[in-house]
This record gives sequence, structure tokens and C-alpha cells, in this order.
Amino acid sequence: MDVVSALTSALPATAVITDPDSMDAYRWDRANDPDAGVPVAVVRATSTAEVQTVVRIAAEAKVPIVPRGAGSGLSGGSSAIAGGIVLSLDTMREISIDPVTRMATVQPGAFNAEVKAAAAEHGLWYPPDPSSFEFCSIGGNIATNAGGLCCVKYGVTTDYVLGMTVVLADGRAVKLGGPRLKDVAGLPLTKLFVGSEGTLGVITEVTLRLIPAQLPPTTVVAMFPELADATNAVLDIAKAMRPSMLEFMDKPSINAVEDELKMGLDREAEGMLVIQSDEPGEHSSVQAKIIEEICNNNSASECYLTADPDEGEAFVTARRIAIPAVEKKGALLLEDVGVPLPKLGDLVLGIEKIAADRQVTIAVIAHAGDGNTHPLLVLDPKDEDQQKRAQIAYGEVMDLATGLGGTITGEHGVGRLKAPWLAPYLGEDVMELNHRIKQALDPDNIFNPGSVYTGLV
Ligand SMILES: Cc1cc2nc3c(=O)[nH]c(=O)nc-3n(C[C@H](O)[C@H](O)[C@H](O)COP(=O)(O)OP(=O)(O)OC[C@H]3O[C@@H](n4cnc5c(N)ncnc54)[C@H](O)[C@@H]3O)c2cc1C
Repeated sequence: MDVVSALTSALPATAVITDPDSMDAYRWDRANDPDAGVPVAVVRATSTAEVQTVVRIAAEAKVPIVPRGAGSGLSGGSSAIAGGIVLSLDTMREISIDPVTRMATVQPGAFNAEVKAAAAEHGLWYPPDPSSFEFCSIGGNIATNAGGLCCVKYGVTTDYVLGMTVVLADGRAVKLGGPRLKDVAGLPLTKLFVGSEGTLGVITEVTLRLIPAQLPPTTVVAMFPELADATNAVLDIAKAMRPSMLEFMDKPSINAVEDELKMGLDREAEGMLVIQSDEPGEHSSVQAKIIEEICNNNSASECYLTADPDEGEAFVTARRIAIPAVEKKGALLLEDVGVPLPKLGDLVLGIEKIAADRQVTIAVIAHAGDGNTHPLLVLDPKDEDQQKRAQIAYGEVMDLATGLGGTITGEHGVGRLKAPWLAPYLGEDVMELNHRIKQALDPDNIFNPGSVYTGLV
């Protein structure tokens, strides 16, 4: 029996999609990988048991599976593979909250925002907050170890994952970790699957740690006439305190956002910082005053402080919509390089130089407090030479970051876009260790082949 017949006979008719037009919605993530293939089927699984069925059928036929959350990824990690199966978790969305242990049990397709909303009903908070939180899934967040805007104080996804159910390459489902704050029995396998980008197994349920609701923040917005002043201010703030947000946008990003929102941002500024303090009581406004002073000492041309959470949120939204705003200027090649914080200025100024040398627009936004930047290279679809120069610049930005002791990806994952840079970044021994773990868990390489690890057969 062929794979499609096996899937349709084992699963409910509504779960299996084979019509090419309907499958198109599941072929790309937001990196719009031009090499995404046409799968033989998309399966919208509704339970761990159905995921097991799909994996067993695929394993038997040695057909690749691309696990898929909401498809908001920026690294081509959920691009479909020609002849493979896209295994979408988008219908598995149940959430239950235990306010006593402060934990959430969540199916992988639930959106990050839905988990936050369910937690908020109990006065609790799930902190990890990628800018895409309203349209990305928890499964995808865990598979990429997603970061976001509040990570500078509250950490990233892995810090909140206590356990999960994973379907392995032979179709077995295993429970790792669970609703226990302390558990050191055996190797920390839960963590192995966090950030595994759909290459080791399919996550079908997770246990997440919640914390008490965040206090209303005070927000400072500062504009800088020079890039170096903005990045120096970041270092001075980091030295003085642990803010709950420390975000950066450069001039092309500010202008793209201003084109969209028309909120009166200074189009001449070279850098903009959005900084928040959520300390209790009057401490947040005390910290905000210190932040304001630091920005002024670093030659800010304008500094605005507000204790009104809604007003502050308007500036956070401006930062959050930067990627879609820049995307309106042309197709994007997205980077996610990060450096140790003291090298942030060298990275941002180095990217500016690469953009000038290659004559390519590179808009830079950053979770600046984490040293994690998103250089967005804007492609001109009508200019082949410009596209070639952008491809060269893309590699140069990654070389620059690694040369500064940084990483090729801080939160979006390696996916297909950055796979060629992984081995040079990790080095031979660590790459070999990665391959051994991948081969131990997925010997026939059925989970997301071509993503993350290149050269595996
Ligand atoms: C405008 C915009 C802003 C963004 N901002 C941020 C940000 O601030 N921080 C950040 O970290 N990311 C950000 N992202 C990137 C993206 O939203 C995250 O990578 C997110 O975690 C992906 O979730 P998803 O559900 O869309 O996953 P998908 O794109 O569907 O998949 C991502 C990867 O996870 C794997 N996967 C998905 N579900 C499972 C599962 N259940 N089991 C095993 N593997 C699985 C896939 O195979 C793929 O490799 C942004 C994206 C956009 C478009």
C-alpha cells in the first residue's frame, strides 16, 4: 500500500489533505524558502495516537516528516519536502492550568497568546514572548527554543519547559519530565528536545511552568543621532540593572515602522531603544529615571518616559511590527545573529558597513539586552545582481557575528536557511556529536531531513 493510501485508511478522512491547492497553506514558513517541495500529504493530527500512526507509516515507508506548528518560523524549518508528509499540529490546542502547582498542560498547536490568556485567568503568566506570540504555536516555540522581548529578565522558552510527550522515530510515545519543579533522575532529555527543530521527534504535549502575573511596567523610549550612542546606552543600562525589556531599532526599521503606524517617530534618528522596568511599586519609575539619565548621558536626542502601560505598549507594538513593516519594502533574507553584549556595538556598526559595501538595505532590530540582533536584508526582486550581493552580505553578517564570539542564531533556529553555516560554527567535534545524537534517535533520518544537519543520509 502506498503512503497516502495507508494514511487515509488509518486516519479520519478530515485529517489527510492531498489536494495541492489546499496543501499550499502548509508548504512554507515565513522564510518563504524557494526550495520548499510539494508533499504527498498534509496530516492534521488531533491526538498523540494519530501522530504515532503517521510516524509508524512514514517510518515503514522511509518517507520524511516535517512537523509543523503555526508556520511562523523564520529559518525554513517547516518548509515542506517533496514527496514527504507535513505533520501539522495546528488542531491540537487544549490548555489546562493548575494554579496550585502553577503549571500549564498544553497541546502543541495552542498559540503562545492562548497560553498567556489561559494563565492570566488565574493571575499567572507564561513569560516567553516572541514578537509573533499572537500567531505562533507552543510546539514551534519549544522546537526552536523561542526567545522574545522579555527574555532579558525572564529567560527563554527552555526555562519554562518542565516536561513533554514526544513521539519518537519508531512511533513510540515517551513522557519526559513532568509537573515537578525538581527532577534530576536520568539524563536531562526534556532539554534535548527543546530547540531540536523537529529533527528528533514530534512534541505532542508539554508541561509549562507559570509565574505570578507581571506588574505594570514603566516604559522609556529614547532616540539617538548615532548608532554607537544607542549601543553604548544598552551596555550602561545592563551594567546598572536588569530591565524587563531592552529593545533596539535602527534607522531603516524606524522608518519602515513609521510608514505603517505614523506615530511621530523621529525619522532622522540612527537608533531607538524601547526599555521597560516592571519592578514593584515606585521602583519601576525609579529605574526608569535612571534609564532616562543613562540615555541622556549617551547623547539621546529625545527621551520619553511613561508609566501608562497602554502608552508603553504602543511603543512595544511599534517594535513588534518591525519585521512585517520592513517586509513591505521587499522580500526579506532574515538573520538572527547574537553576540556577547559588550560586542553589540561592533556587530551593529559592522552590519552597517557590510550594507554600505554591498549596497544592500539591511534593517536591524534587536533584543538588544540579550545581544541578539535581527538584520533584515531587503531583496529587490527585479535586480538579480542586488540579490547576489545580498546573499554575500548574508554570509558576511554571520561571519562577522561568529568572529565577535557570537552565534549564527539566537532564537529562530538553524532550519534550512542557516544549515550550511552550522558545521563551521560548531566545529568538527561538536558537529559530530550532534550527528551521533540525531542518528541514535532517528537512524533513518525521517524527521525534517535537510533542516539543521546537512550531509546526513
Ligand atoms: C513577525 C515575526 C516576529 C517574530 N519574532 C520572534 C521573536 O521575537 N522571537 C522568536 O524566538 N521568534 C520569533 N519569530 C519566529 C517564530 O515565530 C518562532 O520561531 C516560533 O517559535 C515558531 O513557531 P511556529 O508554531 O510558527 O513553528 P513552525 O514555524 O511551524 O515550526 C518551527 C520549527 O519547529 C518545528 N516544530 C513545530 N512544531 C513542532 C512539534 N510539535 N514537534 C516538533 N517540532 C515542531 C518545525 O519542524 C520547525 O522546525 C517571529 C516570526 C515572525 C513572523
